[in-house]
Amino acid sequence: DGHRRLGLRNTATGEPVGELTVNDAQDVARALERARVAQKKWAQVPIAERAKICAGAIDLLVQYREEVIEMICQDTGKTQTDALMVEVIAGLDFITHYCARAARDLSDEPVKLHGFFRALKKFIVHYRPLGVVGVITPWNGPFALAINPTVQALLAGNAVLLKPSEVAPHSGDWAARLFHEAGVPRDLIQVLHGDGETGAALVSAGVDKISFTGSVATGKKIAAACAEQLIPCTLELGGKDAMIVCADADLERAAGGAVFASVFNSGHVCMGVERIYVVESVADEFESLVEQKIRSLRMGAKGERDVGALFWDRQLSTIERHIEDARAKGAEIVLGGKAVIDGGIFYPPTLVRNVDHTMDLMKHETFGPIVSIMRVKDEDEAIRLANDSEYGLSGSVWTKDEAKGIALAKRMETGSVLINDASMSYGILEVPFGGMKDSGLGQVNGTKSLRSYTFPQPIGVDKRTPKNEPHWYPHDAKTARNLDGMVKLVYGSFLKKLRFFTG
Ligand code: NAD
Repeated sequence: DGHRRLGLRNTATGEPVGELTVNDAQDVARALERARVAQKKWAQVPIAERAKICAGAIDLLVQYREEVIEMICQDTGKTQTDALMVEVIAGLDFITHYCARAARDLSDEPVKLHGFFRALKKFIVHYRPLGVVGVITPWNGPFALAINPTVQALLAGNAVLLKPSEVAPHSGDWAARLFHEAGVPRDLIQVLHGDGETGAALVSAGVDKISFTGSVATGKKIAAACAEQLIPCTLELGGKDAMIVCADADLERAAGGAVFASVFNSGHVCMGVERIYVVESVADEFESLVEQKIRSLRMGAKGERDVGALFWDRQLSTIERHIEDARAKGAEIVLGGKAVIDGGIFYPPTLVRNVDHTMDLMKHETFGPIVSIMRVKDEDEAIRLANDSEYGLSGSVWTKDEAKGIALAKRMETGSVLINDASMSYGILEVPFGGMKDSGLGQVNGTKSLRSYTFPQPIGVDKRTPKNEPHWYPHDAKTARNLDGMVKLVYGSFLKKLRFFTG
């Protein structure tokens, strides 16, 4: 019928899991038309009512969680535990949190004015829905990363056109199904399947915002296309997160955190630990603890296991290239370092020591279950190296001294920093999450994020309506005298000291 089709395979077992029909630009245009009609009605639904409807997806997700986990595991090859933790629990938390705060954050907001304006006018800020939002998602957290922008956009009164990754597409269908079953009108959230071609068609279709999560290269293309149309976008892009282990760190905890944050979700985590800088004086002990912990990990396709398959065969080539480059440049591959292809596509948790910044492994996003450790003289050197990156998503500092940890955190050029933990800032919904440098544009989560799916529209009303205002026409000598008198009174007098301008 003229549509391209893509075959899908479970990377843990090699089994085919169906076929994907690629939506083309015409499909996108038709979906946009329907979405526009649905959005007009949805924008009239009171915010509390929108929240009540969307919140219905919470019970449904609890009820369907086993099916959802099964679907995610088939699409990605990840373990059930990773699917539960990274996708289902996170998804539940996103819906619950944003539904609970929607009315507070999105209702008309009265504004206290400064100076003489307070006596003259009153203003509210009305958070107007933008219209139709395009949500484009990656394959590593396909369910949770679809749910978060989608629920925020819906609560803010928009329609959503969701374009899931072609590598793990069914999460998009499930996200839509949960909201539809909860009572969100069918055309208000529509899923468009396909690869970059469908994504590009969506970006240029005439939507009102793009919420993108994915790679730096695609993010830059999307930013350019949005700039052409003067529409906003948020870009949640890749990372190369550094972990700094200070001499006074709790080494047992730091080693456990290092292994988990480098390896969970098969290492396909934007804010996963990709570089570890450990202070020399504790490096022997830290490395030995890390080695013991990696040795105890179990990898496989079924049963009790810690590590699943790689989610995409093409990621394997990046991981292999980085490991071979590191090996050639003198790094020591202590554990792992070789793919296991037996039906599925697996890469064992790999420990690499003696790495340095000439190696791709320390420069570019590897996105695999690799623990890369570099020894440093002191914390200053660790900070310098941590900041020596094109990325700036998040980072972590491990120390028993909280004040020192916070001081070091402030020197890190990253969107967020954790002390004594890593790779979970995205889940803290009260604070903004986003990348500096090449790691992104804009931030998600928090009040600002929810409001970024609206246009904040100030509406002002006059408190007193005289027939004429002193600054309206005619402009004569008296007008100038009055205005000049106001300058002296308001800006040049004791009134300033009365915090006239601060409210
Ligand atoms: P990708 O950029 O290849 O694809 C992401 C999405 O964009 C997919 O749906 C894809 O089909 C679509 N796409 C591709 N080309 C497009 C184009 N020209 N126009 C519009 N859409 C297009 O990324 P990926 O490989 O799926 O995801 C992995 C990347 O995502 C990693 O770099 C990872 O760090 C990043 N990521 C970032 C975050 C974050 O919150 N910062 C979270 C998860 C993943």
